[in-house]
Amino acid sequence: MLKIPVLTYHSANISGNEYQSNDHVALHHDLEILNNLGYQVIPAKWLVDWLTGCKNLDQSERYVVLTFDDGVSLDFHDWIHPEHGFQKSFFNILSDFSDKYPKQQPNVHASCFVIASKQARKNIQDKALAGHSLLGDEWWIDAENTQLLSIENHSWDHNHSACEETAQKSGTTGRFDVIDSYKECDIEVRQASEFIQEIIGKKQLLFAYPWGQYNEYLAHEYFPKFKNEHKAQAAFIVEPEHVNSQTNTWLIPRYVCGEHWKSQKQLVDIIYKK
Ligand SMILES: [Zn+2]
Repeated sequence: MLKIPVLTYHSANISGNEYQSNDHVALHHDLEILNNLGYQVIPAKWLVDWLTGCKNLDQSERYVVLTFDDGVSLDFHDWIHPEHGFQKSFFNILSDFSDKYPKQQPNVHASCFVIASKQARKNIQDKALAGHSLLGDEWWIDAENTQLLSIENHSWDHNHSACEETAQKSGTTGRFDVIDSYKECDIEVRQASEFIQEIIGKKQLLFAYPWGQYNEYLAHEYFPKFKNEHKAQAAFIVEPEHVNSQTNTWLIPRYVCGEHWKSQKQLVDIIYKK
C-alpha cells in the first residue's frame, strides 16, 4: 500500500550552518538523499486529491511532500544572517534541485503555511525573531506565481504568546488546541483564509494547525461541517507517521525537521519506516 511521508521545515531555524542547526542546510541535503532513494517530490495538493479520490498516484512509485511553516520570508528570499552569513532561500534550494534533476523531479513543489494577521506577524517578529523584518507578506504573491511554491493558511495569529490580541475566548495563548468554538475557528481559519486570498488573489485549500495542535471540535466539527465557509480541503497536524489512503484529510500527519529527525541517517530511517 502506498505510504507518503510529509516533511516540514522552518526557514527561521538558523542557529549555525550545520545540518542540525540550520533547516536550509538540512533541506538541501535531504533533497539529494530523497532523490537518491528514488523519491519524487509532489505538491501537497496531489496528496489531498489522492486522499479524496480525485487523483491516482502510481502505487509502484515513491512520493514525498514538502511543507514550510510560519511564512518567514526566507522561504522565498535569500538572507544575510547577522551571525551566520548567507542563507539560500528554500525557494532557491528547490529551484536548484528542480534544475538539477529535471527527469527525476518534474513536479518539485512545497506549500508555505503563512500567518494572516499583520499585527500578529509584527508582534511575533518583534518578540520571537529578534525584530528582524522576516514576516512581511510582500513575497506571497511572487511565491504563489512560481511553479514551485503555494501560499497556504497557518491561521490568523498562530494564537502565539507574542500576540497582543487573541481570538481565544479566555485570553489563553501559546497553544492552538484551546481554539474550540465556532467563533474562534471562524477567525483563525475562515477570516485568515479570506485575508490571505485578498493578497495573493487566489483561494488557499490547505490549513496547517499551529504547532500541529488540534482538538475534537476543530478536526471533527468545524473543518468537516463548515467547508462552504472556510473553503479548506485538508488540514495538517504534526505526527511521525506516513500518510496512507485511509488518512483523515483533516488530520494529515507530518514529520518536522529538528524534531522527528536530526540527521540524514534519521531521515532515511523515517522514510523507510513501515
Ligand atoms: Zn507554526
